[in-house]
Amino acid sequence: MTFAATVLTLYPEMFPGPLGVSLAGRALREGTWAMDAVQIRDFAIDKHKTVDDTPAGGGAGMVLRVDVLAKAIDSAREAHPGCPVIAMTPRGKPLTQERVRELAEGPGVIVLCGRFEGFDERIFEGRNVEEVSVGDIVLSGGECAALMLLDACIRLLPGVMGAASSGHEESFENGLLEYPHYTRPAEWEGRTIPEVLRSGDHAKIAGWRKRRSEDDTRLRRPDLWERHTGVRVQPASGARHEVQDD
Ligand code: SAH
Repeated sequence: MTFAATVLTLYPEMFPGPLGVSLAGRALREGTWAMDAVQIRDFAIDKHKTVDDTPAGGGAGMVLRVDVLAKAIDSAREAHPGCPVIAMTPRGKPLTQERVRELAEGPGVIVLCGRFEGFDERIFEGRNVEEVSVGDIVLSGGECAALMLLDACIRLLPGVMGAASSGHEESFENGLLEYPHYTRPAEWEGRTIPEVLRSGDHAKIAGWRKRRSEDDTRLRRPDLWERHTGVRVQPASGARHEVQDD
């Protein structure tokens, strides 16, 4: 079945963009997924094709009109019933690999891209739209965020990635960061590859990888580690004092 990606945007020319090359590009040409970039402006109501207006309560910037957005969403839903509608917004729930996997297993997704100050808040409840953020950063528009979301989904579609196992050992799939990788040359500028990886002992290698995955997650992403183990990561005792004493 073809995964249907529908993007509602003021800049449809940004799609498929980077998703037209490499594995996603090949999968698009093969029909594993389909891309429909829809111009929100086509759903404007007035003769000037206005999509935005000034913020209620005053302030800088412009806000995307709820009535125009609703028409665009209704049209996309009619074409793709059963696809969830996701608005890209820094106010949304942080995107997770778990949600990406759920989406990739479904019929597709309708992605709403904001611009300017963002969306009229009434659209989310009024049209049952899920709000998703791609990180604690502010982009100039939702298009790059939509490309991220779609890229993450597409690589999980059956047949898109080469090795069947490569989707499952990745970072976040088991709630942890993945272990680090190395390849030839065995020595580079005096730096070597961990000996165990060249030992040929598969059990030892698996053990090393598991340990590195856990250690790196604990040190780099205490938030993930806490969720994984239920154990709160304490900063090393005295660490704070050492920093202050410097
Ligand atoms: N005024 C908004 C930011 C608007 S940025 C606020 O402060 O919350 C313009 C558009 O870029 C947004 O409507 C959204 O579609 C997109 N965008 C910006 N940052 C994003 C992020 N972290 N995740 C997803 N979309 C984002």
